[in-house]
Amino acid sequence: MAFVWIIILSVGLIQGVFIITSLQTLFPRGSKKTWLYRLLKAFQITPVLFIFASSIWFFFMVILPILVAKPFTSFEGICYALIASYLWLNMVFNYLAAMIISPGYPETRQELEEDTDIDTESLKFCGKCSRVRDRGTHHCSSCDSCVMLMSHHCPFTNNCVGLNNFAYFYLFVLHCSLGLVFAAYCTYAPFMACMLNYRSSFYNPKVCTELGDYAVMFLVVIFVLLFIFVMLCFHTFLLVIDMSMIDFLKLCQKLSLREFLKNILIDRGLRKKKLLLRKLLLYRREKWWKFFIPGFNEIPELLPPDEFLV
Ligand SMILES: [Zn+2]
Ligand SMILES: [Zn+2]
Repeated sequence: MAFVWIIILSVGLIQGVFIITSLQTLFPRGSKKTWLYRLLKAFQITPVLFIFASSIWFFFMVILPILVAKPFTSFEGICYALIASYLWLNMVFNYLAAMIISPGYPETRQELEEDTDIDTESLKFCGKCSRVRDRGTHHCSSCDSCVMLMSHHCPFTNNCVGLNNFAYFYLFVLHCSLGLVFAAYCTYAPFMACMLNYRSSFYNPKVCTELGDYAVMFLVVIFVLLFIFVMLCFHTFLLVIDMSMIDFLKLCQKLSLREFLKNILIDRGLRKKKLLLRKLLLYRREKWWKFFIPGFNEIPELLPPDEFLV
């Protein structure tokens, strides 16, 4: 029964995120300055934090003792625990980094006039927030500010995804997918044995009684995995065609299917430049293996906006 309540609560919280995001879109200038608005915004990140906490508890307290006879003293048990901890740590680190680190806000007209000798007359400025409008910069109505190389405003991190935090967002989605594949592997045998009565070596009526409703967790994992995997494929596709999500969605509204195939898949997909891929992801760490350990970007937080753009 407790399991059913956990599922209802998780689904309810996730729906809450979408409702709040939809309300913000409908009423972008609503009650932004009130304490209620700030409280609701903070509430947006609770579903993910709740899922992080319950997933690690579920693995160590429920699944691991069932999969391995001596979970914390046998070689097999330690291997399971190390893989789960490694993926979990990467997931949580990259999520928190994507949430906390600024996506990259361009300077305002006032800041430029005060600090530098740049001729502001030659620059374009946003009419809403007075920040410099370079190519790839978009104005986010949720943050009420322009963001450099903005991809989208993420409701789960309650932060924009842009130049400085895209790498964390992408690595979060990547490690989430890997973690869910591992979770599917761990929950498959209990599900088959206890829910479908598949007579494998795992099948044991006593274990199934202990496991109870938790055996259905495999289906929940597959459902979330599909969602996250589609996200991973979509963002990888956007990097390959060298477009931000905002630009891609805008362009899709204008193009016919034939133009979409030619302009986006063939022309942009086969193009060699891949500026966004380099600027948002590849230039973030010196060595490739540093993408697979929890760590901060090594480049300066603010690159000159036009360094790699044409
Ligand atoms: Zn703006
Ligand atoms: Zn935003």
